[in-house]
Formats: sequence, structure tokens, C-alpha cells
Amino acid sequence: MSNKTKEFSTGASSRGSHQLGAALSCERLWALRYHQRLRPTSSKPWQLLGTLVHTCLAHYFASLMDEPPQWSLDETMDENLEREGEGNPEMIRQAKDCFEAFKSRYAGDGWVPLYVENEFKASIGSFFKDEELPEWIEPVKDEVVTCKTDLVCEWGGRVWVVDHKTSSGNSRSGRLNSWGSGSEYIMSPQVFQNLWIIRSCIDRPVAGFAIQRLKRSTPYDFDRQTLQLSPLAYDQARYMIADATLRERDIKNRIEAGEKPRPNYNQCYSRWGPCDFFAVCSSDTKEIQNSLLSSEYVQLGGMK
Ligand code: SF4
Repeated sequence: MSNKTKEFSTGASSRGSHQLGAALSCERLWALRYHQRLRPTSSKPWQLLGTLVHTCLAHYFASLMDEPPQWSLDETMDENLEREGEGNPEMIRQAKDCFEAFKSRYAGDGWVPLYVENEFKASIGSFFKDEELPEWIEPVKDEVVTCKTDLVCEWGGRVWVVDHKTSSGNSRSGRLNSWGSGSEYIMSPQVFQNLWIIRSCIDRPVAGFAIQRLKRSTPYDFDRQTLQLSPLAYDQARYMIADATLRERDIKNRIEAGEKPRPNYNQCYSRWGPCDFFAVCSSDTKEIQNSLLSSEYVQLGGMK
């Protein structure tokens, strides 16, 4: 019997690389964020601006499609920005300015959108030919993992997966920091998971992954580059994804049996700043932790 499950649909990514990464890095983070589904009530300003710029780009590329996705018809770009940026009109204006500069820069470019903000799903088993599925992966071969991509487009006659990245850039030069073939993105779990899933889902060959960067403040700056991935690292990534689903299953089983998820203090601070639960985990007492969890976080749609 085939290992493959192939489908795609729109909506939020339900089991993406960030979730699986949390299972590998800190089980307390996984439990709070993906089991209890807690999110901070306040987001960092640069995160909101990045979200608003993404919203503009999503509507723009959707509008270029012959059959735009339903979400882009249900709500206009302005309505979407108002909802996501509620109470932050200045930030909405900044996002629109950045977007207008992007359009001017790339007006008439050769990107033909195929999917915008689409969630793709594939089973772990679909990453392996039947005869090469290792025994340890057998228990999770039917588990479905997901990715929600900013854009899948045709570019130069080939299909590319594209991720938009907003950046503060270099404050001295006013430009984006330069990056090249050794960039952090070539070892990104998000990139690998997107490619394994989308290559399992669509019938056309997928050439690879491209990063579209936007500097989110004036003077605006943009660039787009394709990633030169190691074929060896790409091949190994499917084992990492399978390992993460096993790990996630183990954490979930132990939590449901009444065990407390264990912290990993190696993961509390990254170059993007503190973990969303930094204040909780660094509190002096359980009472303060519980008080913070009930006052500073909101639960999305109940536990899984
Ligand atoms: S602050 Fe550290 S221990 Fe707490 S959830 Fe985040 S990564 Fe885990």
C-alpha cells in the first residue's frame, strides 16, 4: 500500500515547522503554545508591522490570480489591515507605504502566482518510497504535517516557493544587510518542510525556495534570491521532521497522563529576543506564573 497522502487547503498552518521545532527544542514551549494554544495578548511592534506588510503582499499576489483564493474575496486588503492592525493606524500607514514601494520596484515582474497563503498537507510517509521507509518511522508514517506558504509562483518558467521576510536592515547604510549562499536560510527547517510537503502535493517539479526581503522602513530596499540548498541536508530533513512528530507524540502522551512538560532553559532567548513565555518561566512563584498566564495570554480555539 502506498505511504502517500496528498491534499491541500487554505487556512492557518496546523502542524507547521515552528510547532515541530518547539517539540524538539522545549516541551514546555510546545505545551503552552501548541497544546494549550496560548498567545501573548500584545505583540512586538516590528512583528505587527511585518504581519501587516505580509497582508498587503498576500492580497496583491492573490489579486493577480485568474481565480483568486476565497479568503481574498471575503475581506478586502483594507478591511484585513484594519482588523489586524486595530488601534495602530500609523503602523497600517507604514505597511502600505512599504507595500507601495514594493509594487513600484517590481511592477511588471515575471512572477505568476499559483498559490497564495495556501496550506499544504502531506503525510510523513509521502516523503519516502515504500521500500525506503525506516522501521522507526513506521509508527508516524500516516501523521500529517503542514506548511502555509506566502507564495508559490512560476518564475522563469519554473515553480518556486517564496517566503517574504521583512527586515530592519542596516541602520548605517539604510540598505538591507547583504547575504549570500551561506545565509541562515539554507538550513531553515521551514524551508525544508515547505519543500518536502509541496513537492509531495503538486504535480509540477518545484525548482526550489526563494526569499523575498523587504526593508520595513525608509529608505525602502528589497531583494529576492533563490537558496542553494545542500542536497544532503535536504534529504536528511525528512528524518528530522519524522523525529519531531515522534517527539511531539511522546510529549502529548505524557502531558495527557498527568506529567508536567519539562523546560529547556537553553532555548529561552534567541537573536529574535526572548521566548513568548520568558516572563512566565522566569517568575519567582507558581502563583505569579498562573497570574501572568491568565492575564497576558489569550487561548486560541481551545486545546488540541
Ligand atoms: S521561556 Fe524557556 S523554558 Fe520557558 S517555554 Fe520558553 S523556551 Fe521553554
